[in-house]
Amino acid sequence: MAAMMGAAAGTPGGLILDMDGVLYVGERPKPGLVELFAVIGERPFVLVTNNSTLSAADCRARLARMGVAVPLVAILTVSQVVGCLLPTLAPRASRALVLGSPPLRAEVVAAGMRLVHSAAEVVVVGLDRALSHQRLTEAVRSVSAGAALLATSFDPILLTEEGIEPGAGALVAAIAACVGEKAVCVGKPSPLIFEIAAAQLGMDPGQILVVGDSLRSDVAGGQAVGASTALIHSGLPEPGLAGGPAPDLSFDGLVELARWLAERWSGEGGGGGGGGEPG
Ligand SMILES: [Mg+2]
Repeated sequence: MAAMMGAAAGTPGGLILDMDGVLYVGERPKPGLVELFAVIGERPFVLVTNNSTLSAADCRARLARMGVAVPLVAILTVSQVVGCLLPTLAPRASRALVLGSPPLRAEVVAAGMRLVHSAAEVVVVGLDRALSHQRLTEAVRSVSAGAALLATSFDPILLTEEGIEPGAGALVAAIAACVGEKAVCVGKPSPLIFEIAAAQLGMDPGQILVVGDSLRSDVAGGQAVGASTALIHSGLPEPGLAGGPAPDLSFDGLVELARWLAERWSGEGGGGGGGGEPG
């Protein structure tokens, strides 16, 4: 099926690509993945994810298993963004309680924090598949006593090979329901992660196309920093978004995106494009 082309999206200079649901679902690559990276070639891109359970090296290894080689520096995980921004967002904190996976905890430690099980000064919430009621209780007590609350994302659910599962946003909502405290989100749709990605590209957001499968995280976040946006239809359910953000472009999948990029870039010369089939 042909791409629906929006008037607002010009020829992108660089790409910010969401990974989960766009490039792959779990260990299953999306059709057109290898073709897309053939079209991208040497053009600048950053792969971003709100998934805090994988390190950048994990993401790179997963893509390699799918036949796509990307440099480590082209991957930006929300855990890395947490580590980067912790000193700014919680400047006086040194005791951190992390609801999350080893890659997230490693970034928090690398940012100079001591991991604690109670009485934390900052609570960092990512996807925690081993969460216990006791640890949730200690997070609630710390925030109630004044700890800063940082979230890797507000995404309530994520897509896996087995179906949907509660995301970090569901855990944040549980804490917020107890204490009425608003969390600071560092992942998409926060401008924070997009600004870091744009800085890595060395580009003004107006030159960048943000590609994702979430209206709430990718499209709204990209629009907030002034980038063009493209929605890939993955089947991610996003209830309650009627009349929500409208992407500049909409594609059924990566095959259609690759074709559109190849067409846009073919008229330019230079770069590494040219591998796609003209529509
Ligand atoms: Mg996604």
